[in-house]
Amino acid sequence: MSYLEYKLVPTRSFTVIRNCAGCGKKAPCQNTGKFRVNANGSRIDVWLIYQCSKCRHTLNLAIYERRKNTDIPAEEYQRFLDNDAQLAEEYGRSAALFQKNKAQIDHKDMAYELIPLQDTTDKTVCENRRQITIRNPYGIKIRPEKLAAEILGLSANQVRKQILKGTITIASSAQTIDISVLSDPK
Ligand SMILES: [Zn+2]
Repeated sequence: MSYLEYKLVPTRSFTVIRNCAGCGKKAPCQNTGKFRVNANGSRIDVWLIYQCSKCRHTLNLAIYERRKNTDIPAEEYQRFLDNDAQLAEEYGRSAALFQKNKAQIDHKDMAYELIPLQDTTDKTVCENRRQITIRNPYGIKIRPEKLAAEILGLSANQVRKQILKGTITIASSAQTIDISVLSDPK
């Protein structure tokens, strides 16, 4: 029996799909890597700026709204002012930010990678089974069958057949996908 564990992470900022006021129809928006900071007395607003890929109409995603300046860590505040690219990327992959702003993530236009965390074999259990756990901390919406095919080196069709046969079972929740693979006795 072997245990494999992976972490599913986006390799770039999420794309937002929205009704663009500039285009007058649904259009994809991308992270510009820039912030907008508005200080009004002791109250501060910070937005991450997204932009329509077609007409460049902007979409501001609120990170902080009317917050006391003392609520925002000084180091992070400076990074907002500097348009820190790394920080902009971090916010661009934070599903919570998009949820809070009711911005719809385009899950079809998603770049991700599977980072191996663990690969161990327990020889005391002779069952010929592979237990695969995929952690999904970013809440990427992807069909578990697709990930199973990728990890096992099978086609989507082969995975479907094995699910029907019962040799592959998949259980998924928002943050974890469990795949159990029983090898055919030869
Ligand atoms: Zn547009």
